[in-house]
Amino acid sequence: MFHSGAGSRCTLNAQHADYQNVQQERSVTRHPVVSLSLVVPVFNESESIGLFLRAVRQVFDACPSIKYELVFVNDGSTDDTLDSLLVAQGEDLRIRIIELSRNFGKEAALSAGLEAATGDVIVPLDVDLQDPPELILDMIVLWRQGFDVVLAHRQDRRSDSWAKRMSAILFYRIHNRIADPQLPENVGDFRLMDRSVVEALKQLPESRRFMKGLFAWVGFRTTAVNYVRPERQAGSSKFNGWALWNFALEGMTSFSTEPLRIWTYLGIFVSFMAFIYGLFIIARVVVLGIDVPGYASLMVALSFLGGVQLIGIGIIGEYLGRTYIESKRRPVYIVRNIFERKD
Ligand code: UDP
Ligand code: MG
Repeated sequence: MFHSGAGSRCTLNAQHADYQNVQQERSVTRHPVVSLSLVVPVFNESESIGLFLRAVRQVFDACPSIKYELVFVNDGSTDDTLDSLLVAQGEDLRIRIIELSRNFGKEAALSAGLEAATGDVIVPLDVDLQDPPELILDMIVLWRQGFDVVLAHRQDRRSDSWAKRMSAILFYRIHNRIADPQLPENVGDFRLMDRSVVEALKQLPESRRFMKGLFAWVGFRTTAVNYVRPERQAGSSKFNGWALWNFALEGMTSFSTEPLRIWTYLGIFVSFMAFIYGLFIIARVVVLGIDVPGYASLMVALSFLGGVQLIGIGIIGEYLGRTYIESKRRPVYIVRNIFERKD
């Protein structure tokens, strides 16, 4: 069920018309004072940090019932992101900084942030303000009514390029056909999670972490708020076409073994066709005598089978590679330093 997330109101008891039917469904009410952890992975984002902090303070500093911490995960930035964060921390006790030893990628950075977060309610969000912080107020309203997960569902993908939109549609279509559990479409990492959900995520042992899949896998009572994803406010995107393609492969191979199984069926089909063709050739020899020419059909059959086998081996290799990496049991990330202020 989707609800429209409108405006920034600092009232946790909002009787917004959109939420009324939810209230009837769920009778759980949670404590009015919420401790909130904002988990923010950052990679070369020094331009965005100031804008981000201003937006967050504007939303939450007017809400005494929300006690929040900001867990920044510096994912091996090579610019002065860390300096900007340390300066910000000098003025704001609520900022905690987890510095990773190198760039481990957004998925690993998120895992590090979720591990460090201490709040009752945890929300991962991007630093470029593409995940509007004011939406979190609407999410909290739904959390208080008993939902454990509140997704931020994108109403449309207007702020994405055509290629990104098309590849997203294709990805969700294929993924949800072959993988279990289904991924909700047009939903990113931006979501509110109850502490129990994060504790469940922390128990998952895999070191290659496709977070969208893991989020869906743990389940829990889930609802969503709608929003329009704005453009990036500063800096530039870290995900190009090749990175997105690898991300899609990661997603599908992490949550489905269907691509391995289709080879059995394709093999049966090709063998059956070859058998029929064999019968046909024998019959032709018996009826018409020995037939010398036949290179064309031989070449076609040979190259077709060669191609099919190579694809099959490639896919098996993809899984074997993943099993190999996973079997090393390396940690998901390495923390170089933690900056926290206790005073
Ligand atoms: N990010 C990260 N590690 C990376 C790449 C990205 O922590 O290796 C962070 C980045 O700083 C930002 C968030 O992940 O806060 C989303 O990245 P981006 O805005 O580039 O992705 P897009 O919105 O273009 O998909
Ligand atoms: Mg972005």
